[in-house]
Amino acid sequence: LAQLFRPLDLLGMVYRTIRQGAIDMGSMFALVDTPAEIVDAPGAPALAVARGHVRFEGVSFGYDAGRPILHGLDLDVPAGTTLAVVGSSGAGKSTLARLLYRFYDVDGGRITIDGQDIAAVTQASLRATIGIVPQDTVLFNDTIGYNIAYGREGSGEDEVRRAAAGAAIAGFIERQPDGYDTRVGERGLKLSGGEKQRVAIARTLLKNPPILILDEATSALDSRTEADILATLEQVERGRTTIVIAHRLSTVVHADQIVVLDGGQVAERGSHAELLRRGGLYAAMWARQASERDEALAAAE
Ligand code: ADP
Ligand code: MG
Repeated sequence: LAQLFRPLDLLGMVYRTIRQGAIDMGSMFALVDTPAEIVDAPGAPALAVARGHVRFEGVSFGYDAGRPILHGLDLDVPAGTTLAVVGSSGAGKSTLARLLYRFYDVDGGRITIDGQDIAAVTQASLRATIGIVPQDTVLFNDTIGYNIAYGREGSGEDEVRRAAAGAAIAGFIERQPDGYDTRVGERGLKLSGGEKQRVAIARTLLKNPPILILDEATSALDSRTEADILATLEQVERGRTTIVIAHRLSTVVHADQIVVLDGGQVAERGSHAELLRRGGLYAAMWARQASERDEALAAAE
């Protein structure tokens, strides 16, 4: 009998997830992956954000019992600084983002924002504090204006325009015959990967969160588009606490600190220059990607 009720549970979960405003999570965390029963503690207060100092203190986590993914992870991201997280596929980078957004509760240790355990505050207040630019942005079959305005309920036309300008997509929109009323999606204007990414950035600008997560936000783009978007993202990161999850190391060079995740732990941490001098995992990744870039350049000639 329990089996019969599973689909209903799942619907309930999806519904709650949508209600909680997890809109910009898009395909980063497929909704059906959302686990059961992250609930607010009775009488939980709202998160009181001062400047957005994020800490992972001895965080351990696994999706399944007996298969730990993170082991006693320590991260300290001072307010307004950028932490880059690199590491091979499956290292647990996106898991970090999911834990900070509290899609799952940690098994050990704790995550704090400005000294408050994120498990002790309301999820709505936590999620209002964090903006995410995911790898693939999901657009709705609606107007481009609606797709941007989705970043924050009740935003006005002027705000949408300002956000579009900040994401360097206002010119493109204004060149469309219907402007912000241009429909996008299956039966409307098809946006390129870079344009969709800019819509996601515009949404995030509207939301104006003190904490920003970029999860491989440029990995699907060609390197020219990537360079354009990176310049925009650097503007968006200014003054916010930012966690950049990156596969391409070109996107992390400017970070205040870089951590290399390996085997669920921090294998190396430091600035780009420090990590290159160290000659470890990061330096090897950098050398490998540099030679791939050279080969790509040579092939293009
Ligand atoms: P990364 O982003 O570094 O590529 P992830 O954080 O997505 O890695 O995944 C880390 C590990 O957790 C991988 O082994 C992955 O297979 C596993 N994993 C990710 N999501 C789930 C899930 N919903 N259920 C079970 N295992 C998962
Ligand atoms: Mg990932």
